[in-house]
Amino acid sequence: DDRISRISSTIRVIPDFPKPGIMFQDITTMLLDPVAFKDTIDLFVERYKGKNISVVAGVEARGFIFGPPIALAIGAKFVPMRKPNKLPGAVISEEYSLEYGTDTMEMHVGAVQAGERALVIDDLIATGGTLAAAIKLLERVEANIVECACVIELADLKGRDRLGDKPLFVLISST
Ligand code: 5GP
Repeated sequence: DDRISRISSTIRVIPDFPKPGIMFQDITTMLLDPVAFKDTIDLFVERYKGKNISVVAGVEARGFIFGPPIALAIGAKFVPMRKPNKLPGAVISEEYSLEYGTDTMEMHVGAVQAGERALVIDDLIATGGTLAAAIKLLERVEANIVECACVIELADLKGRDRLGDKPLFVLISST
């Protein structure tokens, strides 16, 4: 699909952000190109339309950019998976490990019902810890996770191995 190479060309790599040695994949430059941004959304919509998905769960912060347009196009609800103490209602929380220390992800109680078919969206998978936490939250409310989807996978980090039996779909696999 020649849309992929165009999308890929709009993603900027910033060395040493947020700290030395990290090559940060910056998707904000893709958002500046309306054709590339639309192609990105369209590629996900083409994959998930008609699959009976009722929940698109987006991981803060960049899952909030890609999740909602996909949710609207496939007729699903959008559920934000947030950093701690941001959601105002009752939440369930999942702690997960980072390179140094831990972080917590939260989801509103009652946002997803048992048996709903869910898609989890983020911009990028590195170690897979973030998506694994989102999977755990959705499994605690007995949702059926159809797939996880990202724009970019840092394949060398083997994050997909942390997703258990949940499939991962990516547009760009970077090595
Ligand atoms: P993981 O938990 O898989 O190690 O890290 C993935 C999370 O960190 C995602 O929420 C993603 O947005 C963020 N992240 C880590 N590295 C990068 C990067 O190079 N570019 C972007 N855009 N996000 C990153």
